[in-house]
Amino acid sequence: MWFTIAFILAFFLMEGGAWSAHKYLMHGPLWSWHEDHHKPNGNLFQKNDRFF
Ligand SMILES: [Zn+2]
Repeated sequence: MWFTIAFILAFFLMEGGAWSAHKYLMHGPLWSWHEDHHKPNGNLFQKNDRFF
């Protein structure tokens, strides 16, 4: 059973890492590069907010 807990923990750690990297890198110094990622640009292809 411990591996289930470890898996869930690792999952949330990864989620948090991706989220904070997104927030502090992409919405900081890399915003110009990342900006169109948040703008609806008429593309049918819409990625979710996870950049990595
Ligand atoms: Zn973003």
